[in-house]
Amino acid sequence: MYDYLVVGSGLYGAIFAHEAKRFGKSVLVIDKRPNIAGNIYTESVEGIHVHKYGAHIFHTNNREVWNYINQFAEFNRFTNSPVANYKGELYSLPFNMYTFNKMWGVVTPEEAAAKIAEQRKEITGEPQNLEEQAISLVGRDIYEKLIKGYTEKQWGRDCKKLPSFIIKRLPVRLTFDNNYFNALYQGIPIGGYTQMVSNMLNGIDVRLGVDYLEYKAELDALAKRVVYTGPIDAYFDFKLGTLEYRSVRFENELLDQPNFQGNAAVNYTDRETPWTRIIEHKWFEFGKDQDGNDLPKTVISREYSSEWKPGDEPYYPVNDGKNGKLYIEYRKLADAEQNVIFGGRLGEYKYYDMDKTIEAVLAMTKKELV
Ligand code: FAD
Repeated sequence: MYDYLVVGSGLYGAIFAHEAKRFGKSVLVIDKRPNIAGNIYTESVEGIHVHKYGAHIFHTNNREVWNYINQFAEFNRFTNSPVANYKGELYSLPFNMYTFNKMWGVVTPEEAAAKIAEQRKEITGEPQNLEEQAISLVGRDIYEKLIKGYTEKQWGRDCKKLPSFIIKRLPVRLTFDNNYFNALYQGIPIGGYTQMVSNMLNGIDVRLGVDYLEYKAELDALAKRVVYTGPIDAYFDFKLGTLEYRSVRFENELLDQPNFQGNAAVNYTDRETPWTRIIEHKWFEFGKDQDGNDLPKTVISREYSSEWKPGDEPYYPVNDGKNGKLYIEYRKLADAEQNVIFGGRLGEYKYYDMDKTIEAVLAMTKKELV
């Protein structure tokens, strides 16, 4: 009999399994997918690591987490610097001096600040909707070209009909800094995320293509305790209702050309283009293969916001009152469950960046194993 059955070979499950083994425990990891690594899975296509469930950029301010993850992979120096494409005009993101120079021809930070201040004046009272909120923060030009269309595609609604609280802040940099994340550490694991997770699972029994909920009784009989990283509502057969998610649809294309857009991420900020952004995966690794050779082909993914319905891939939890309350009810059932630990983004119905997932599983591990 195993000490632990870990349901899910994503980042949370794989790290728990690794730590349990390190503490001398026996572990079986299962996953219903045909591959390990959950949503950070990267698939190799023509030498390119394709981020199959959405682009993943590792970034953290936590040195402990950074040191921890570096035992499983060496990270490259990738820095996320997305570009916005508004009807063929290209702008730097996040909003910074390059953006303002392109938008208005301003050259100094003082000129840029004055331009923004002048445009913000348009909104006088309390902003009544997202449009007014955005204009009150950065002015109309930036709103019209870089925020409006993108946000409307993401939410499937007009910005005038969206509540103002969705946008609390819109960071404006009066420097020439295109680095999207304000993180001390950032990069992409060399060799791909799948290889990184495979290193975590080294020496651990893994069975793929096994749905825990389908064979629950037999699988439970194999271990003393269970770490469950699947959806919490599915565990309880949705008996209190279904937790909702926001979804994304990806359309991948292999192109017989070396360079499609010259950057990993280009956001399409007009309303007419149906996709929100295009990811060109090879640029996460500077267009090179493992041996440093240029890659002749490229893979792009167009991302579309889509309505989520039960059965679709769950991506982002919906943090509204209704779903929050339902989660609390499921949490009570989970707490009453003997010998099962619920964890990870689906088990806790929580959006976790990868570094936060690592913090969460390491904190749980300390309670469970030490
Ligand atoms: P998952 O990776 O979802 O793993 C859960 C696993 O459980 C899956 O493999 C699933 O198949 C398995 N499973 C579920 N139910 C069952 C069952 N019944 N039986 C067997 N197996 C089951 N974070 C960043 O830091 N940077 C980013 O750039 C970033 N980009 C993101 C983009 C998108 C679109 C999304 C959705 C997330 C992004 N994240 C990013 C967050 C990151 O994906 C998560 O932190 C991480 O994947 C969480 O790992 P996990 O193990 O909790 O969940």
